[in-house]
Amino acid sequence: MKRYEWMVVAAVAGACSVAIGQEGPAATKSQGHAIVLHAARLFDVEAGKIVTPGEVLVEGERIVAAGTSVEHPAGADVIDLGDMTLMPGLIDAHVHLFLHPGAEDLQTVEESVPQRTILAELAAKADLMAGFTAERDMGTEGAGSADTAVMRAIDAGLIPGPRLRISGNAISILGGHEDAVHYNPAAHVPGNADYANDAEQIVETIREQHKEGSTFVKIYETGTDSEAPGGVNAVPCEEDAALCAQNHLSAQAGDAEFWAFHTPYQYTEAQLKAGVEEAARLGMNVGVHDQGEPGALFAAEAGVASIDHATQLSDATMQLMKEKHIPAVPTFTIFEYFANHAESPAAAAREHAMLDYKIHEFKRQVAVGVPMAVGSDVGPFPHGTQAREFELMVQYGMTPAAVLQADYLNGAQILRWQGQVGELKAGYYADVVAVPGNPLEDITAVERVGFVMKGGVVVKK
Ligand SMILES: [Zn+2]
Repeated sequence: MKRYEWMVVAAVAGACSVAIGQEGPAATKSQGHAIVLHAARLFDVEAGKIVTPGEVLVEGERIVAAGTSVEHPAGADVIDLGDMTLMPGLIDAHVHLFLHPGAEDLQTVEESVPQRTILAELAAKADLMAGFTAERDMGTEGAGSADTAVMRAIDAGLIPGPRLRISGNAISILGGHEDAVHYNPAAHVPGNADYANDAEQIVETIREQHKEGSTFVKIYETGTDSEAPGGVNAVPCEEDAALCAQNHLSAQAGDAEFWAFHTPYQYTEAQLKAGVEEAARLGMNVGVHDQGEPGALFAAEAGVASIDHATQLSDATMQLMKEKHIPAVPTFTIFEYFANHAESPAAAAREHAMLDYKIHEFKRQVAVGVPMAVGSDVGPFPHGTQAREFELMVQYGMTPAAVLQADYLNGAQILRWQGQVGELKAGYYADVVAVPGNPLEDITAVERVGFVMKGGVVVKK
């Protein structure tokens, strides 16, 4: 995102071990005996309810049982977490480990990939300590496949961090979103993306990225965004009342000017489909940076795994996302951050107008029943602070239980770890966090994670 642009029974264990072998995080297994976690409450993800008290029995890297009480095997370590709520490890479906505050646009020029990789390790640790045990890294933004090294070091237990899905660079068109378009051509300033200009090049780029270790594909589908009251793209409301109703915040149909948001698409539906099919052939899926129409409809038709940012969705796109169960990932936290950290009052006003428009559209999406997932776009703002996203999604219209279910269930779906993460159930990875109080009464509890276990290993207590 760029500023201004936009065990259990043996049968279950056996079934899971096939998938684990393919993912490779074997080194996170704890070698010890059983651990029983006890707390005042436990969040039942499927039911969307709190049960009291809560207990989880862990053996090795997996959950054996969870509920109001579990068996306490002889010799088990019992960890009593007191007045807390046990929940699955949080999922962030949209992060940038290779971005840090204040440098996101020129990092490719100013910082070496080794330097960025060291910072990415620290970012991964910060996210894990904040309770995020699974993340989708939505593009290294110019650091190429350096994320492969971070993912493998985490999986080998060499450094602390969440389970990761990684994409290497995102894919974009020449001169498109995240290309270095405003510089002296003779300086050959590198862009932040891998270029692909047609379906064949998309397929070739995906193969190259996968060869270097990617586990999903990130495509920039829209940009550069423009938005302004009465700007060059604005259409007077009296000419298009329907468009006015969709795009405008304060004026009414019939007014001479209105605030309009426009974002050109980068790839056609057929080109995106070629990418989705090649990703599927390699056992992966595609997430798109997509701020609006008509790119969002192309992406939904092509069958992407998620539509990220999803600021502007037409009725047809929303319907398709419901039918195909394609989650939107609103990424409110980055929009709020940019609005609150703008360089000038004029820029701040513009960012706030963008955020207001986004909130307005999000409420429509929630009312229609578009599936949601939780992704913060952390990186331009400090890693480890992104649980703010849960709070904002509640503030803008979802219930705490719905936001948590969106995070866990739709997050696991997008990250292709369904049945492995996102619930406290027998056979799942023992990725468990505890938050103070009751998160259904105060969602900000997820911003104060006090206990983190990943794969049966306590990493924060
Ligand atoms: Zn992003």
